[in-house]
Amino acid sequence: MTTVAVLGTGNMGAPIARNLLRAGFPVRVWNRTPAKAEPLVADGATYAPQPAAAVAGADVVITMLADGAAVEHVMAGVQLSPDTVWLQMSTIGVEWTGRLADLAARQGVAFVDAPVSGSSEPAEKGELVILASGARLVRARVEPIFDVLGRQTLWLDHVGDGSRLKLVLNNWLAVLVEGMAETLTLSETLGLDPHLFVGTIAGGPLASPYAVSKGNAMLDARFEPGFPLRHAAKDATLARDAAQDLGLALPLTAALLRRWQAAIALGHGDDDVASAITAS
Ligand code: NAP
Repeated sequence: MTTVAVLGTGNMGAPIARNLLRAGFPVRVWNRTPAKAEPLVADGATYAPQPAAAVAGADVVITMLADGAAVEHVMAGVQLSPDTVWLQMSTIGVEWTGRLADLAARQGVAFVDAPVSGSSEPAEKGELVILASGARLVRARVEPIFDVLGRQTLWLDHVGDGSRLKLVLNNWLAVLVEGMAETLTLSETLGLDPHLFVGTIAGGPLASPYAVSKGNAMLDARFEPGFPLRHAAKDATLARDAAQDLGLALPLTAALLRRWQAAIALGHGDDDVASAITAS
């Protein structure tokens, strides 16, 4: 059976490791803060005190860490065996994905760029959408893993296109959330009960179920994280910078980032992205 090392057992990595264990895969877990990896031992995981111990002899390595710098820091410190496949599932953008694909090439291992769409709840239910690209030769080997983690795997030919699509999706998410926050504030300022706006669009062509659920969370000031604001801001920054590198300005994204950074400065970084409404 394929042995999987999961590096990073935060909100996304922990349910990923748990679902693989439930599906019968031998799983090793490592996390910088051991207390977040150790509970997985009760589910059958082998705890590794160091990344090198987790990856030694593993058939597949999954990185699910905060950002590109964290992934590089961890993966530059280990040597993978030549037949290991590295599934890079963190959201790290275009430039980092290129750097890490180069690192994998230097180590002589197959690299699959495979960020995911869906937050911790779909991760728990094994209902992520996996945006996989590259590594045509190892697809058959990794598909059983993706089938456990997601409801759909979208294979794109060119390595990095998974990360490009992830930036596009999360830029759309950011604009939806910020549009909801601004429109609720407008509604209130005009003297209308903001519930009226959400109630009027819900179920109709102007509504997206995601925007309506975030709108309701904003109205109830329910900010327990599904998708933390700091990750949403990171992703919007990655999208803005990738666009800038190609000579494209994203004025909506740039504007919302200024407000989101203000909300983070107020202490909302670990709160849900719906807390964007708290920025003035
Ligand atoms: P998280 O709960 O904040 O976990 C982040 C992980 O990265 C933790 O294991 C953390 O270790 C580790 N880490 C951070 N900096 C590190 C460093 N310098 N060296 C080593 N480890 C480091 O984040 P998450 O929600 O699981 O997200 C993981 C990735 O998935 C991110 O790229 C995120 O954008 C993406 N993603 C998240 C969601 C979501 O809804 N949450 C959805 C789709 C994609 P510690 O525990 O020691 O801090």
